[in-house]
Amino acid sequence: MSGKTAGVRSILITGANGGLGLGIARYFLEKDPDAKVWLGVRSNRGNAEALVRDYPDRSALVDLDVTAKESWENAVATITAADGRLDVLVNNAGLHQDHLLAAMPDEAWSSVISTNLDAVFLGCRAVIRPMMLNRFGRIVNIASLSAILPPLGQTNYAAAKAGVVALSQTLAKEVARSGITVNAILPGYIQTEALAHMDEEAAKRAKAGIPMRRFGTPSEVAAAVFFLACHDAAYVTGSALKIDGGIF
Ligand code: NDP
Repeated sequence: MSGKTAGVRSILITGANGGLGLGIARYFLEKDPDAKVWLGVRSNRGNAEALVRDYPDRSALVDLDVTAKESWENAVATITAADGRLDVLVNNAGLHQDHLLAAMPDEAWSSVISTNLDAVFLGCRAVIRPMMLNRFGRIVNIASLSAILPPLGQTNYAAAKAGVVALSQTLAKEVARSGITVNAILPGYIQTEALAHMDEEAAKRAKAGIPMRRFGTPSEVAAAVFFLACHDAAYVTGSALKIDGGIF
């Protein structure tokens, strides 16, 4: 399952210190001996550093604040200088700040839109030229089930993630003849820090609404990212794949 040419397959994962990003990075490193994984990190880096210690020859940290255009330019320049290519971008970094709209602070709206949606635009734009020159690319954008089944309190997050799906589907058409695919993944409840705010009672209620009666794991999402990123998934583009234990 390697990229277009033999040898290194260069992969950038944003928000790679978090639960899902780290799980995706580990999955690529375990499953693909050709993978060179760049773990995009911002403030926290302890988890990512530990993974890089396990795979010193095939992984590296790269500073990346996904909301900053210059940060993207620097990260992509670092990767293409080192590997001569960038095959796969996984736009995973994200956050939510839930409030009912009537009480939504300006900052909660703008930071959620900026981190979840503007950042995906910046990231896709930063990598699309190197990918077009290489006539190969795989972009996987982590949206959320909230894009199509939003809970109360997530007008900001749901709008951003629905935007990610629309952006992915539009970009997929724009680059369809360049060997580049663009897909979105819509996870439901995945067991990471992002669910840490839930107490036991809330988690129990949430699980009762999931046909599989459990939260998903980062590796269950990573398996889908890995498939969408592989060379053989060349005809899968513009899709929005739900990974939600059957909720929707
Ligand atoms: P985590 O909170 O565990 O991790 C989020 C990561 O995003 C952190 O590493 C964080 O970095 C990083 N991040 C936030 N803002 C920025 C920024 N400006 N620049 C760079 N990195 C940033 O969450 P998950 O791993 O669970 O979530 C990953 C993705 O999956 C998100 O897009 C989320 O919306 C989506 N998702 C998650 C679901 C879940 O149930 N877990 C469900 C549906 C979607 P730092 O630690 O430095 O703050």
